[in-house]
Amino acid sequence: MPQQEIKNFSITELENFLKEKNIASFRAKQIFKWVYLKQTDSFEDMTDLSKDFRKEAQTLFVNKRLEIKKISHSQKDGSKKFLFCLEDNNHIESVLIPEKDHFTLCISTQAGCRQNCKFCMTAKGGLKRNLSTSEIVSQIRDIQKYILDQNEDESKRLSNIVFMGMGEPLDNYDNVLRAIKIITDQDFGLKISRRRVTVSTSGLIPQIERLGKDAAIALAVSLNAVSDELRSELMPVNKRYPLKELLLALKNYPLPKREKITFEYILIKNINDSLEDAKKLALLLKGVKAKINLIPFNPHPGSDFKRPEKNTIEKFGKFLLDRGYTVIVRWSKGDDIGAACGQLSAEENSGEK
Ligand code: SF4
Repeated sequence: MPQQEIKNFSITELENFLKEKNIASFRAKQIFKWVYLKQTDSFEDMTDLSKDFRKEAQTLFVNKRLEIKKISHSQKDGSKKFLFCLEDNNHIESVLIPEKDHFTLCISTQAGCRQNCKFCMTAKGGLKRNLSTSEIVSQIRDIQKYILDQNEDESKRLSNIVFMGMGEPLDNYDNVLRAIKIITDQDFGLKISRRRVTVSTSGLIPQIERLGKDAAIALAVSLNAVSDELRSELMPVNKRYPLKELLLALKNYPLPKREKITFEYILIKNINDSLEDAKKLALLLKGVKAKINLIPFNPHPGSDFKRPEKNTIEKFGKFLLDRGYTVIVRWSKGDDIGAACGQLSAEENSGEK
């Protein structure tokens, strides 16, 4: 039997796997602690496991790190974009964003994506494949280690995770759910608070409903348009899951206490940035516990869309603020290092640098 990547197991799955091999199931918790809490790579170094079991574990499992192909540093805002090369030569990206007192990490869940949103660089190459659970949690584990090794601002912890990188997280549901459990496990996993993990979706209604039952984690929805006509044009997923049904599913989503759903709205010049759009957006979100992230479009190669003028963005935001919404304008991080998600990997795959 080929060795299995240890980080593809949830703790319960590992316990069951060990039981089947007549190995005491408490070993699963010991291994998890070494892998996630102590950042240990070699089973040989897991010193509270018996010598025999350490040997056996090496025949059953591997515990690999991702290959970091490149780290780009933004001079403008201090963010770092990690380009990882996977074992099958696909590339994915994670972005580490320094905040006032912590780091936020934006992670990928698929190599490519099949949702085909018209403003998105990742969409251009289609879906290559889903990431494994190990590839998802490794982005966090490996970058935690990078922060430790770099001795970067020791007072800051990597405490916030957003599933907002390459791919539609809910299109890789099982691996994402397993990863969320490992990430938020306070005893044996990566110990990130559940309240600080956000899954961003283009709006896959059945999976939103499932997630509400399975994890009830904070949710962000990429909205970007206030009519079905425009949204279907920008985001083909809207043809399957139109706005009215999407908003109903979001109203019913069991949010953690005092939380709101984040609506991401990429502002694109002359497409969805008029005051009329802002008015319709205010009406559309009435009755939903909503906060709105306005994201000025980040121009990238191969896209005709443009970023609106600054005063258009400000007027749009002010209109919503005046109607009582929480509004944040989020400028893309690292626009000097190819901030458009998927830009670095697209360049890597096409040989551009
Ligand atoms: S915006 Fe997100 S869901 Fe849409 S194509 Fe890009 S990665 Fe996929």
